[in-house]
Amino acid sequence: MFDIPANDQSAAATVRDTISMQGIGLHTGAMVEMVIDPAAPGEGIRFVRADFEGSLEARTIAADPALVTKTQLGTVLTNASGAAISTVEHLMAAFAMRGITEATVFVSGPEVPILDGSSKDFIEAIDAVGLRVFAHTIDKVAPTHAVTVTLGDCWITAEPLPEGSAAEVILDVTIDFDHHAIGQQRVVIEGDRDTILAEVAEARTFTELRHVEALREMGLARGGSLENAVVLDKNGIMNPDGLRMEREFVRHKALDLVGDLYLLGMPLGCKLTAYKPGHTINTMLATALADVADQHQAASLSVPA
Ligand SMILES: [Zn+2]
Repeated sequence: MFDIPANDQSAAATVRDTISMQGIGLHTGAMVEMVIDPAAPGEGIRFVRADFEGSLEARTIAADPALVTKTQLGTVLTNASGAAISTVEHLMAAFAMRGITEATVFVSGPEVPILDGSSKDFIEAIDAVGLRVFAHTIDKVAPTHAVTVTLGDCWITAEPLPEGSAAEVILDVTIDFDHHAIGQQRVVIEGDRDTILAEVAEARTFTELRHVEALREMGLARGGSLENAVVLDKNGIMNPDGLRMEREFVRHKALDLVGDLYLLGMPLGCKLTAYKPGHTINTMLATALADVADQHQAASLSVPA
């Protein structure tokens, strides 16, 4: 289990020192070098494709829900120059759970390394260097009314915390998979980012073997293995050691939701209820919440007539 740093949950923060990591990309199967550098308040989370030609600006991709271009197999961000970075969600979740608001992430290829398929290794790497906390405070994702997005039979609602709640955030996530090893699972987490970390950080991504085979035929998931995912076949869980924790599947979906919403760059200060969330609908919610935040800002900036 991870230690809990005693820093203010509304302060901007970055990594205290440079972090170097490497691992394979889930889709290319190629080794990726990743360097996370400290950044200054207001810089936010940015990815830089170190393997691209061109100016720093052309190679820089901001963590921003407006830059999400694909959500089928992971969350992909693409900038105006066409530079893209895939599978950002587990690293974004690690930043969210440790309160890192500013960092520059240099990546030697098109994907963030998948590592063990959870946020565990990212958190350990962050904890090894520690945080630098700024005096600068940051806003929270705190809608003043309920915001709901729907996609087929999936939906997510973000709403204000119940009156009198001592929690910073409430996550209530339900999944329903047509596989006997998963079925319907629910997790409810009430607390703050440390509570979320304790409940979901080590939950791994999962997939069915038949989907992996179909992806491989399309030239994808080349790096996917039992080392970085829970894989299910018709008999059940194929990983020899089984699951890491009970309801690991729904916990991973909660992790993905936290990572995708962190494209907003702000900690969660609301209640989220999600039914069958995934990257597509998570991004729809992030976009809707960004619009609400913009309107709120515009309203507070407008001068009364
Ligand atoms: Zn995931």
